[in-house]
Amino acid sequence: MRFDIVTIFPTFFESVFAQGIVRRAQTSGLVEIRLHDLRDFAHDRHRTVDDRPFGGGEGMVLKPEPLAEALESLGIGSKGENAGPSTSIASAISAQDDRCVNGTRVILLSAQGRVFTQAVARELAALDRVVLVCGRYEGVDERVNELYCDMELSIGDYVLSGGEPAAVVVVDATMRLIPGVLGNEASGVYESFGAPDDEIAAEIDVDVEGVPRSQHGAGGLLDYPHYTRPADFGGLRAPEVLMNGDHAQIRRWRREQQLKKTLKNRPELLEQAALSGEDRRILEALRKEIGIRD
Ligand code: SAH
Repeated sequence: MRFDIVTIFPTFFESVFAQGIVRRAQTSGLVEIRLHDLRDFAHDRHRTVDDRPFGGGEGMVLKPEPLAEALESLGIGSKGENAGPSTSIASAISAQDDRCVNGTRVILLSAQGRVFTQAVARELAALDRVVLVCGRYEGVDERVNELYCDMELSIGDYVLSGGEPAAVVVVDATMRLIPGVLGNEASGVYESFGAPDDEIAAEIDVDVEGVPRSQHGAGGLLDYPHYTRPADFGGLRAPEVLMNGDHAQIRRWRREQQLKKTLKNRPELLEQAALSGEDRRILEALRKEIGIRD
């Protein structure tokens, strides 16, 4: 899979992409990341990429021409040109929202975008190429979004000073879902947020005691807590159940911990999660426990 990142700070990415799983994914050829300096597409003496906003107000806006040229250099056509004589640009745009052309999706990173989640990461991981446009200052001239981008993506409800940290988040979360990138294929599925609910629901395999067989977090729940040596640390002992080798008990304990953590930190996830009858009983008990403590 290939990522193209259009940015005014290409060096921002050097160290983050030169380490760990992202580096390995690149050296193994599973992932290719190309950085494109927006200033290479500005042709004046000062390599200007921004200008003052129409209508006044604070800050600067990234100009459309260098961005358009950068995207055209990546083989991305304008939707306006593709629209054809009988189609208005506006209808071409609404028809093409969240589209992908030849396996490529062009994404504008924006605080105003659709929120990036594990489900969106899974959607992107299935594509051949993702082009990420990093805004700066007050943002990007909206016509670039309208004419060249297939999707606006926000990494959360806060405002960053540039799209670069968001691009790192999107590349990282997406590339680890590409088959072969993680050492253990299962770990992409069995962790916080798990696989899509319908897949898990079809897959949910409950053992005699009603505990889902998966060892790890799945089905839209958060992951369970992890422990390693030493067994005693800071006056706290790692849970005995994890050290007694009884795998059915370990599974049950982990599932209960997932339910507990999800109920405590992200109760809304429980509405979408694939839950067994035993899960529901555990949740009921946990709710009572919390209720009693309250
Ligand atoms: N005026 C804009 C914020 C601009 S911040 C607003 O109020 O919505 C400058 C750039 O940072 C944006 O163009 C975008 O590319 C990036 N950015 C800021 N917050 C982001 C977020 N939550 N997710 C993704 N990109 C973000």
